[in-house]
Amino acid sequence: MLRVLTIEDERKVARFIQKGLSAEGMETTIAESGDEGLRLASERAFDVITVDLSLPGIDGISVIRSLRERQNAAGILVLSARGALEDKLLGFGVGADDYLPKPFAFDELVVRIRALARRKTNFVQDLTLTYSDLEMDLRTRRVQRGGKEIELTAREFNLLELFLRNPEQVLTRAKIGEAVWHEQFDRETNVIEVYIMYLRKKIETPNSPRLLHTTRSVGYRLSERE
Ligand code: CA
Repeated sequence: MLRVLTIEDERKVARFIQKGLSAEGMETTIAESGDEGLRLASERAFDVITVDLSLPGIDGISVIRSLRERQNAAGILVLSARGALEDKLLGFGVGADDYLPKPFAFDELVVRIRALARRKTNFVQDLTLTYSDLEMDLRTRRVQRGGKEIELTAREFNLLELFLRNPEQVLTRAKIGEAVWHEQFDRETNVIEVYIMYLRKKIETPNSPRLLHTTRSVGYRLSERE
């Protein structure tokens, strides 16, 4: 069953979408604000997320940006009454996959959602990163070592993902800072050291080999070898 998250503050529109999609055999969850949408998207995996651009509080464009920053793999469909070209371009610029101006024909919505879900399942197989006995599912954001679940914060997750995408390579502090902290990275702080320590505590166990190694005054490396 296709799982759809609809982020829409107008209750009437949201109910209309939900009712229509469930008649099509899709399971639809409604979020009435961007915050609620982001929370739900971090708790459950959805195939498609529809985002209204004008939302109270955090706006639709910021919601899409956050979803992509958190590596959310859902297809994102913008539904906007604004219909302006700039909105459309802005939406695509931050990672939306498709755009449907309001008002829309319901059949059109269903077609777009199905197309997005199909496109997504084509690359869903690539959404698991593994190294040694570490496994990361980018879709559900679950991490396991040796089959044992590990709870990571969003930042720790992004940090570990970077290592899993570049195994056996020394990653410099600059590269890590840029990739995980983006423009908020302050190279004067020891925030990377601190997060490496957090991550080690969580992924290392006494009976398994160390995976995160320090290359003195350069950076860090994910490796089974010392
Ligand atoms: Ca709205």
